[in-house]
Amino acid sequence: MQLLKGHRFRLDLAESQAEFCSRTAGICRFLRNLALEQRSMAWKHGKHSVGYNAQAGELADLKVLAPWVAEAPHHCLQQVLRDLQVAFQNFFAGRAAYPAFQKKFAHDSFRFPDPKQFQVDEVRQRIKLPKLGWVPYRNGKGRHALKLQGTIKSITVSREGKHWFISILCEAEVAEPVPVLGPAVGVDLGVAQTITLSSGQGPIQIPGMTKAESCRLARIQRAFDRKRKGSINRAKARTRLAEFQARIARRRRDAVHKATTMLAKSHSLVVIEDLRIKSMTKAPEPKPDPDKEGSFLPNGAAAKAGLNKAILDKGWGEIRRQLEYKCRWYGSKLVAVPPAYTSQRCSAPGCGHTEEGNRTSQAEFRCLKCGHAENADLNAAKNILSKGTTDGPSVSACGARALAGRRSRKVAA
Ligand SMILES: [Zn+2]
Repeated sequence: MQLLKGHRFRLDLAESQAEFCSRTAGICRFLRNLALEQRSMAWKHGKHSVGYNAQAGELADLKVLAPWVAEAPHHCLQQVLRDLQVAFQNFFAGRAAYPAFQKKFAHDSFRFPDPKQFQVDEVRQRIKLPKLGWVPYRNGKGRHALKLQGTIKSITVSREGKHWFISILCEAEVAEPVPVLGPAVGVDLGVAQTITLSSGQGPIQIPGMTKAESCRLARIQRAFDRKRKGSINRAKARTRLAEFQARIARRRRDAVHKATTMLAKSHSLVVIEDLRIKSMTKAPEPKPDPDKEGSFLPNGAAAKAGLNKAILDKGWGEIRRQLEYKCRWYGSKLVAVPPAYTSQRCSAPGCGHTEEGNRTSQAEFRCLKCGHAENADLNAAKNILSKGTTDGPSVSACGARALAGRRSRKVAA
């Protein structure tokens, strides 16, 4: 089977190269926001849509009007417009929200889509990129060095904290894996960053921030807010802030990878909830209550809530994405079931009584019919498993969705 696999390495950039990357990422962000505005305005005022071809055709004119745009590699600029086109396609298909403007310093990245434009020297662990020249990247030594398989499709350069990274996307033909022999498992993804398994093992906690860390984050944030705009000290404080957030994200990424690998490697069937359906049907978020203490969050608390929310928003989608490709790798089956009533149904054998009152609190489940009492998340995980193995409509999450039209999607390992 064909498999897309991504590898991420840290780059060791000279100062001038890092500057070039910053600038290129900035130009790409400028172009994306400009193109997004053009599309939005055309639709708002003239009710007509502007597509990729029209926008790519105007790139040359833009370079005349704003010569500094030409400092970025042309292919990267085209790729920005192509990515925007995909973002709009996803929006129109109902898979994603309306594309948002990119904020400064938030997602600094740019992509080289054409393999003819770069060269990878795996022996000397360096890579040649247009306008950048040869750049060393960090890989393990000797047998610990990661080897690239298949053909390279694209390279993305991105910043995390104070460092720059490359993600190399390869397409490889690999043998079909031997199906995993193991039990089936239902997976409940809880709000408190927990993964509960129907087997009763775990639960697995995906770490957020400790109290001390959120205090530290608040302190760094306040220090940043105090610095004068445009000053060097503000830039330094921004790096500190980004580095701190990157560290938390790294720790989280590690835990998520461990959890999804364990799930895919040792179960013949993994059943998850199709949470895209849930997010469309869930009740609106409760509004803050001005009479209640803590509703008006001080600066630091807001920063923490913001980061935690960002982590959470990305979290479950990322877990599903990893399960999709890891289950294919290791030879287990992934099934997504509709999430309706999994938290209200009694999982006791032969009961199945479904009532809102069954769930007495966030943590506890007590069946009003048979009296079966259990941890609410464990009860839900068992229901998810039984949905995936017996009844109801379910979609194979490894099947059509993962392949159709998503070949260009990045699969970072
Ligand atoms: Zn019951």
